[in-house]
Amino acid sequence: MTKTIQTNETKPSIYGLTRDQLIDWSIDNGAKKFRATQIWDWLYKKRVETFEDMTNIPKDFIEKLNAAFVINPLIQRLVQESKDGTVKYLFELPDKMLVETVLMRQKYGFSVCVTTQVGCNIGCTFCASGLIKKQRDLTAGEITAQIMLVQKYFDERGLDERVSHVVVMGIGEPFDNYENLIKFIKTINDDHGLAIGARHITVSTSGLANKIKEFAGTGLQINLAISLHAPNNDVRTSIMRINRQFPIETLFEAINYYLDKTNRRVTFEYIMLRGVNDKPEHARELVALLKDMRKLAYVNLIPYNPVSEHDQYSRSTKEDVLKFYDVLKKGGVNCVIRQEHGTDIDAACGQLRSNTMKKDKAAARVTKPVTV
Ligand code: SAH
Ligand code: SF4
Repeated sequence: MTKTIQTNETKPSIYGLTRDQLIDWSIDNGAKKFRATQIWDWLYKKRVETFEDMTNIPKDFIEKLNAAFVINPLIQRLVQESKDGTVKYLFELPDKMLVETVLMRQKYGFSVCVTTQVGCNIGCTFCASGLIKKQRDLTAGEITAQIMLVQKYFDERGLDERVSHVVVMGIGEPFDNYENLIKFIKTINDDHGLAIGARHITVSTSGLANKIKEFAGTGLQINLAISLHAPNNDVRTSIMRINRQFPIETLFEAINYYLDKTNRRVTFEYIMLRGVNDKPEHARELVALLKDMRKLAYVNLIPYNPVSEHDQYSRSTKEDVLKFYDVLKKGGVNCVIRQEHGTDIDAACGQLRSNTMKKDKAAARVTKPVTV
């Protein structure tokens, strides 16, 4: 059992290379393809901390690896463990910026919520992550490293557990960091490495229609989650200004294209905001909106986690949520209410914020999906 080595060197992380890229790099540096296969195995199966630990790699090639890359680009600054099994990690990037990652224990395994950007430019009016303008995109290596560090958290404790599911729902808009997102997905999905199944990976987007179409073309069988949060353009534009650029008609055209291409279903996330989007007429509009994709659409009704800077919003009442749910069900829409289970740590997908900001303890709740 080796302890995770932490370094803040500015060389890129080797986790940022897909297996094909590692093969190309190895060949360019005078090695045969099988050398890259060995390295890949050391990185993702044996999960070593240094290139020197790769005992079947020749010394001169280890020097080349050391000259070009680090393995782990992140420093773990804080780990908070909740009673319900949720763990939140605060990681420092090489330029000292901080990001958060969350591990959640689910009935079906362990799910990790990763961050893709420092801050977010989409600026949804209810979101804590969007309060800070995007400082920069995370590299593919920095996103993959979040999974590796959580996996090593299990390894170091001698736990025979693995990260089985990944949700891209941390800080940032994943489709605004498209290339790195795709490299990350290819890496964690690779059969010779972590082998996290595509159907166990969910990407959540605020609705960048052009990228949804491009994503459909990758052939990756990933779950797509759309942050819809409103049944019409007026309400949606008032809470998500991205709706001006990609109004609901454009967004749905892209989603239908995605469904046609991939044969997958799509999840719609819908935060229940009191008096904003939670009335029976909104539910009826939503039923009408989803009419044509009935069997393929799944709606998650999500309790709003209060953000002190956005005090114009509050959580819908239980009665309003149940009424809304009833209208959807009667209208033939697949729907779950995400039930909250309070927690003692400040961690929840979608509610993460840079810790340089004021903490809002009221937002320290985790939600988990349940079927009603
Ligand atoms: N940028 C992407 C993914 C990260 S946000 C997206 O918007 O989809 C992950 C989810 O958390 C989104 O559905 C988002 O709308 C939701 N979310 C953001 N702020 C929230 C809050 N205060 N309470 C509940 N959910 C929130
Ligand atoms: Fe960005 Fe998503 Fe938050 Fe909107 S909800 S500001 S897209 S992280």
